Amino acid sequence: MTAPMNTTDYERFDVIVVGGGHAGTEAAAAAARMGARTLLLTHDLATIGEMSCNPAIGGLAKGQIVREVDALDGIMGRAIDRGGIQFRMLNRSKGPAVHGPRAQADRKLYRQAVQALLAETPNLTMRAEPVDDLILGGAQRVEGVITEAGRRYRAGAVVITSGTFLRGMIHVGEERFPAGRAGARPAIGLSYTFRRLGVPLGRLKTGTPPRLDGRTIDWGALEAQPGDDPPTPFSYLTDTIKTPQIACHITGTTPGAHDIIRANLSRAPVYSGAIAGAGPRYCPSIEDKVVRFADRERHQIFLEPEGLDDDTVYPNGISTALPRDAQAAMVALIPGLENARIIRPGYAIEYDFADPRALVPTLECREIRGLFLAGQINGTTGYEEAAGQGLVAGVNAALRAGGGADTFVLDRADGYIGVMIDDLVTLGTREPYRMFTARAEYRLLLRADNADQRLTPRGIAAGCVATGRAQAFAAKRARLEAGRGALKSATATPAELAAAGLNINQDGRHRSAWDLLAYPDTGRATLTAIWPGLDEMDAPTFDQLAVEGLYDAYLARQQADIEAFRRDEALIIPDGIDYAAIGGLSAEAVDKLSAAQPRTLGQAARISGVTPAALTALLGHVRRRAA
Ligand code: FAD
Repeated sequence: MTAPMNTTDYERFDVIVVGGGHAGTEAAAAAARMGARTLLLTHDLATIGEMSCNPAIGGLAKGQIVREVDALDGIMGRAIDRGGIQFRMLNRSKGPAVHGPRAQADRKLYRQAVQALLAETPNLTMRAEPVDDLILGGAQRVEGVITEAGRRYRAGAVVITSGTFLRGMIHVGEERFPAGRAGARPAIGLSYTFRRLGVPLGRLKTGTPPRLDGRTIDWGALEAQPGDDPPTPFSYLTDTIKTPQIACHITGTTPGAHDIIRANLSRAPVYSGAIAGAGPRYCPSIEDKVVRFADRERHQIFLEPEGLDDDTVYPNGISTALPRDAQAAMVALIPGLENARIIRPGYAIEYDFADPRALVPTLECREIRGLFLAGQINGTTGYEEAAGQGLVAGVNAALRAGGGADTFVLDRADGYIGVMIDDLVTLGTREPYRMFTARAEYRLLLRADNADQRLTPRGIAAGCVATGRAQAFAAKRARLEAGRGALKSATATPAELAAAGLNINQDGRHRSAWDLLAYPDTGRATLTAIWPGLDEMDAPTFDQLAVEGLYDAYLARQQADIEAFRRDEALIIPDGIDYAAIGGLSAEAVDKLSAAQPRTLGQAARISGVTPAALTALLGHVRRRAA
């Protein structure tokens, strides 16, 4: 593509990141940590780290992603530890494998924390200059960006993380106007650039609830929900949470509110046909909930304060694009909100996204070298999903700009980030993609508690982990090693254990303290009563090893599945295969394989419609080609 005539050549960087949301900040920080001279370009420096929708980070599966980002030295975990005002470990009553850390944020403190962490990142420059176009060199290689003001910045790799901004269109009832999110203008030029470059685009939508004035809510009438005491930090580098903690409150919709919603459905953009893009199935608007679950009389609402010194309240559960008058009437029929003032109406936003099947697992475009996409632009929804992609794209952009052949790819057994990226690039998405524990095959391994052990060594090897974290990790690993040794070498006979009050099969077999961790109700007190020396182990080390010991036998079995998975992943399908020429493939398999261009046999197997017979034919073809 040729640049407009009035552009001026400007500076050169190694990596340029477009966007200062959750994907962009992680991408820029990761590239900079890799040593790449990095430029972050965004609309407004003051909104870097802005939470467009709910003031919360983490949750089931999402919390695991935050821990994984942190394990790779990303910033999200440290930022929420500084800005979190209510921490809760979700699923605490279930096994540690499915615990999901979540924290509600003070919006302003979170944003400030992200900005402070970026400010102290070496090699990183940030400028408020929206990007309008890309500079493309020969051989379909991106060479830089052109800003709205016509400045050209050159770089070896460009990461686009434009979120909901690409041709964004806000809807409130019958009103609609172009915007990237409330109060921000959309990005139009880049959308046309993508079209010209042949990047396949689709349309998705998401929505947000009205914001309420907390001073007009009848808090006394509502059930309070406190956070955990003490709060558990997200980051492996945080010892304690110092931010004051608050309670949230719970209310719910009423049959009267549902009547208002039903009466106004024809004025809601999704139902009037004004919005065509698919919305997030698992984060539906209150209109959708009332239609889909017509027999439910109440939908729960969490009233979440947006900050310690901010009266704005986020009513989590009533995302809506109903007209303003209908929103007001609905809210007034919710207990505790009878007199609540709406500060800003809820709205839906429709935006362009790029089909992630056009990407390879490094998040680079298959057809345009050096161009990486990350975050909501790839069809995902959520801050955490965006952050995980941003980090992977940032590391790979730095590697690409460095000119070497190395890549940084996480697979489905490495982490939730690997599961997400594999799902996206293999299967694509027709609706905003959100992470769930059910999407991961190896949940016992991909826990929130062990993300550092899974990923920090990978990050150190790739070069995206700073020295301070690497040292802290090495010290922790040494403590865990010593602790494991101590637990495994403390042994006793069944008779000795029975004498200590444990219900043990009297089979003559010695058990170690490590073995006993898998027994129900065998806590620290029980073990130290038998082996007093174990009391020297610090509590965090013991707690971590207790989880490992609990799952040890299961993990050994899961390891066999992981090895089989990795064998299939190691079977590389060469580029440029003509699937139509492979005998024995159905028309459906040819279509789907041609569209997805899987890189490995394992990836091919995960495409729906690709049968075991088709895989055998494909494997035979690949082997014949290689022979
Ligand atoms: P964003 O956070 O959107 O950041 C995009 C960044 O790119 C911004 O800094 C912007 O200024 C910048 N930018 C864009 N174009 C350009 C350009 N041309 N040049 C320079 N800079 C540019 N998530 C959920 O999980 N659940 C929900 O219910 C939910 N509801 C939402 C409702 C609304 C109305 C919105 C707007 C978002 C909602 N989200 C929800 C999504 C969540 O906000 C995003 O998933 C997350 O913010 C995506 O992060 P991102 O970094 O990809 O993009």
